[in-house]
Amino acid sequence: MNPVRVRFAPSPTGPLHIGGVRTALYNYLLAKQTGGKFLLRIEDTDQTRFVPGAEQYILESLNWLGINPDEGVGVGGPHEPYRQSERKHLYKEYADQLLKSGKAYYAFDTAEELDAIRKTYESKGGAFQYNAATRGKLKNSLSLSEEETKALLASNSPYVIRLKVPAKGEIRFQDSIRDWVHVHTSSIDDKVLMKSDGMPTYHLANVVDDHIMEITHVIRGEEWLPSAPLHILLYQAFGWTPPTFAHLPLLLKPEGNGKLSKRDADLGGFPVFPLEWTDPVTGQKAKGFREEGYLPEATINFLAFLGWNPGTEQELFSLEELVTAFSLERINKAGAKFDVQKAKWFNEQY
Ligand code: GLU
Repeated sequence: MNPVRVRFAPSPTGPLHIGGVRTALYNYLLAKQTGGKFLLRIEDTDQTRFVPGAEQYILESLNWLGINPDEGVGVGGPHEPYRQSERKHLYKEYADQLLKSGKAYYAFDTAEELDAIRKTYESKGGAFQYNAATRGKLKNSLSLSEEETKALLASNSPYVIRLKVPAKGEIRFQDSIRDWVHVHTSSIDDKVLMKSDGMPTYHLANVVDDHIMEITHVIRGEEWLPSAPLHILLYQAFGWTPPTFAHLPLLLKPEGNGKLSKRDADLGGFPVFPLEWTDPVTGQKAKGFREEGYLPEATINFLAFLGWNPGTEQELFSLEELVTAFSLERINKAGAKFDVQKAKWFNEQY
């Protein structure tokens, strides 16, 4: 395989949970195996969800496990992660590019107006979509005249920038784990790319950065699979080649009943975070693998097996051995049950 460029792109909205660490690990393994690069990018453009201390926690967690990024250009020097909040100007430039090429448009509808329309649709048993079927009747630069749009912009009326999703067409892509995915563009809304506060949405910032950073493989949790068709539309709008996508199976609670989430801070006395975490708002403490006596090597080994198997009987792997053995092809499609006993077993082997 050619050297890949991969990234781990957490949002600092709280402590990194074990699913995030697994994503980082799989990215790291593929980078090392191919002689490629593993990047860390902090996706911190949503200020409303920002949690103080979360970035530091992410860095320390990865460092404890030995999953260190190869590149970084943050304000703190070459080893600092990329931070989207330090790259804001870029996203605006790219959104303007889409406006100029007619692939995006200004929308002036207020939140209250959209709420009222949504309610009207719902009262008739339908669901409102901001798309090719409705945009002509809404308040945007495609429905208004050029003069009206200019006047609104000149009067500093708040606006968002939306992607003009084609009315008809099919998005098709082959995910390395999920195989072929087909989605009709009619099911995708004209998503907001730039918010009224001038900040990019996750979708725009994520795609622009993956392109600029020359990411070849996007390996991330399955919860992002529904966003991938929109991301492909964005690549097409810019005229860029999309990366290869690999959406990892969900991590399930030990009983297998539902998705493991950040809210599962404590699974029957078992940690789901790499390091101990104290919530800055509630003051609540959550256990960490490190503080519970788990060794980084055992934690890595346990995580590698959460959704991947080597296809051999071997169960104990050093990080170097994992680098050699890992492959995207051997990642399971089914959700991976977080098995507490297995984690304990791994720790006893070291
Ligand atoms: N910021 C997203 C997250 O918190 C990144 C998703 C992706 O990797 O594209 O998981």
